[in-house]
Amino acid sequence: MKAVVATERDRFEVMNVDLDPPNAGEVLVKMVATGVCHSDLSIINGTIPSPFPVVLGHEGAGIVEQIGDEVTQVAPGDHVVLSFIPQCGECYHCAHGQPFLCTAGKPDGCQLDGTTRVHRDGDAVFVMSFLGNMAEYAVVPAICVVPIEKTIDFKAAALVGCGVTTGVGAAIKTAAVHPGATVAVFGCGGVGVSVIQGARIAGAKQIIAVDLSAEKMENARRFGATHTVTAGGDPVREVMELTAGFGVDFSFEVIGHPSTIESCIKCARRGGNAVLVGVGRAQERFSVSSLILPLTAKNIVGCMYGSVNFKADFPMYLDLYRTGALDLDGMVSRTYSLDEVPQAFADLERGVNTRGVILHG
Ligand SMILES: [Zn+2]
Ligand SMILES: [Zn+2]
Repeated sequence: MKAVVATERDRFEVMNVDLDPPNAGEVLVKMVATGVCHSDLSIINGTIPSPFPVVLGHEGAGIVEQIGDEVTQVAPGDHVVLSFIPQCGECYHCAHGQPFLCTAGKPDGCQLDGTTRVHRDGDAVFVMSFLGNMAEYAVVPAICVVPIEKTIDFKAAALVGCGVTTGVGAAIKTAAVHPGATVAVFGCGGVGVSVIQGARIAGAKQIIAVDLSAEKMENARRFGATHTVTAGGDPVREVMELTAGFGVDFSFEVIGHPSTIESCIKCARRGGNAVLVGVGRAQERFSVSSLILPLTAKNIVGCMYGSVNFKADFPMYLDLYRTGALDLDGMVSRTYSLDEVPQAFADLERGVNTRGVILHG
């Protein structure tokens, strides 16, 4: 089958690989739509550590083609969305209501049993986050999929697998934005726009979009931003001015850059929340005055995968899409074939799409 493989740091290509059938507890999914996410790029450029060679892709939807032994969650023909975190239901975090931290598997490029299903010339090829769905097919753990209604558009379903869940979940689950709240969002790409949609759905009265790109901020208004502030000026001062000097109830950072994280924290009001969503490099640090947290009672909150319980939340987000509350069609600004993936990554780096989606055709 054809797959997008990062062969070493800063190199990737579309190539043919071999795929084994699913083992016990695994399913074979024929991919229909795969979102192109910054985290895929972060594997290529080394921001997120990974073994090589590795099949990219961790945001996708498709149709179950075959199931391994002991699989009861899905059957062939089911339409499914993939989750890049398994949900075993039994580990400490699953048992304590935080399945987005499930420890059923190590993200080491293998399946849960520590072996791989993808090979090339007999050698193991790893997969990103148990999935590696930037390929015609993916063999994935059954505890990484959830069935969805067959009427749902696959492009919309794919987005729910990572970016939309991360962003909308950051607003409505991690932060629990409430009606009438004030919100600022640093970074208005696909995830930032999803935070904005989540804040809008939660009933926030003021949603301030902060970005360097005027085009992205204008786009953010389509999804619910009420104000825009350019990151190129003095965004902290401008957010303060827009909130009568208080700062916002909820400030989100969706880039993972130390300077915007620091601005995000400054923009949270006394007693407010700064929610960190963007994934930065491991060696980077941000700094906060030792005085500031005790005196202001601000909270700095880390957001992993929008605090998702994917078995309940993926269908819930798709219900919000079906009823029109969540605009997913408007987020898909371009589709690509697998062979066009180099162009998809170039467009991602230039930030021209809200989200690019691969249609596996
Ligand atoms: Zn992603
Ligand atoms: Zn678990």
